[in-house]
Amino acid sequence: MLQTTARDIAALTGGALVGGATGDETVSGVARIDSREVGDGDLFAAFLGEHADGHDFLAAARAAGAPLALVTEDRGVPAVQVPDVREALSVLATAQLDRGRRENPGLVVLAVTGSAGKTGTKDLLGTVLATAGPVIAPAGSLNNELGLPLTVLGLTDATRFLVLEMGARGVGHIAQLTAIARPDISLVLNVGSAHLGEFGGIEATARAKGELVEALAADGRALLNAEDRLVLGMAERSAAPVLTWGFSAGDVRGTELSLDERARVSFTLEVPEGLASLHGAPIAPGRYAVRPDLLGEHQAANVLAALAAALVAGVDPAAATAALDGARIASGQRMQVLEAGGALVIDDAYNANPDSMRQALKTLAHLGRGHRTIAVLGEMLELGEDTVRLHDEIGRLAVRLNISQLYVVGDGAAPIHHGASLEGSFGGESEYLDTVEEAIAVLERTVRPGDAVLLKSSRDAGLRRIAGPLIEHL
Ligand code: ATP
Ligand code: MG
Repeated sequence: MLQTTARDIAALTGGALVGGATGDETVSGVARIDSREVGDGDLFAAFLGEHADGHDFLAAARAAGAPLALVTEDRGVPAVQVPDVREALSVLATAQLDRGRRENPGLVVLAVTGSAGKTGTKDLLGTVLATAGPVIAPAGSLNNELGLPLTVLGLTDATRFLVLEMGARGVGHIAQLTAIARPDISLVLNVGSAHLGEFGGIEATARAKGELVEALAADGRALLNAEDRLVLGMAERSAAPVLTWGFSAGDVRGTELSLDERARVSFTLEVPEGLASLHGAPIAPGRYAVRPDLLGEHQAANVLAALAAALVAGVDPAAATAALDGARIASGQRMQVLEAGGALVIDDAYNANPDSMRQALKTLAHLGRGHRTIAVLGEMLELGEDTVRLHDEIGRLAVRLNISQLYVVGDGAAPIHHGASLEGSFGGESEYLDTVEEAIAVLERTVRPGDAVLLKSSRDAGLRRIAGPLIEHL
């Protein structure tokens, strides 16, 4: 945080100094909601969670170095008492960002949204921007009304780039987030079928994601995917100039896209003459090789998007592409490829929607060329009334991609099996399995050296429990 006193925090949030707070307590670290993560100078925000009450950890947070807390109840520890801690964090974040912009006019706020790839792209942006100055782009998916203010409150005097992931589960959500942190650069990746159930249709999804573009001031920049019709359509909602990227169209181009034998992407970044950064500096035109250590064509799209945004933020293209050489995605266990007993296991079972499922299957098909391909698929959650059809289509795609063996795990995923069976003759076979345990047993029996195995489902479908025992067994 930018150094702030308890008095200022109370004034901004309309809170009261309690627990012996004098008003002179000074916070300068970050804001934490977990007392175990508190360090010197941090602000501790006491939340009433499902399992624990942050107020019970006030003493621990203080002992760990937090000079001040935000509370809803006075527990005798120096604090600012407010009616709603989350709301207070939002107010603080907004004020800190305003101040950060005043004190440091070079500060650039980048916000990323889209149906798939937000976290990965945010991580790639963090890697690229770090070559030009101090970046805040925290690991994970801190993309909601709580994670976003906490991220913003990481701001320091030195921060040059603030990268924010903005997620939406309905119309109006992103507008709420941009009210806390107005972006200078809005990056919209794609509009797909993630969380369709909550949105009620793809047009509504586009409306919701487009709020990120509407939040731009005239001196900002909208960065839009030239290959996604619904994203491109957001251009008319932008008061700021638009820059597009894509492989088949766009201002900033990816060309010569290819996947190597391990499905790692590479392409050439083509920057034409005449482009300028947010602050008006020319972006060096030319052709630059891009070789991250990432799998599947969909990642190439995210890499290109991150590069386009970084160039607009002021990073030199040669430095940007060099930073991505061999780059991986920092956050979590996205599409890991593990090798054991001569087989390849692609573990991507922590998140799934129809778009990422399709991409994962294509990657498996590529990776498995000349080998046996085994797709172990579980339910994609949150798809609303179209859920059966969307699962069914995945089954049909697996057939068209000639996946050798499909295992469909769990009741909710059963339409994948039906789709595959109806799509007709298949090089391979589809089999329905009731439980993850059954899947583990079947895989342990059948996976052989040379096989490529994909594990994919939404996190709560549980397929992420498979990789451990399977690798062990192989
Ligand atoms: P969430 O809404 O859960 O925060 P997210 O938008 O942050 O998701 P990531 O966590 O980066 O997305 O990626 C989620 C999944 O989508 C991963 O399986 C990833 O491989 C896949 N994915 C990433 N980018 C794309 C893309 N452009 N198209 C389709 N799938 C993608
Ligand atoms: Mg995310």
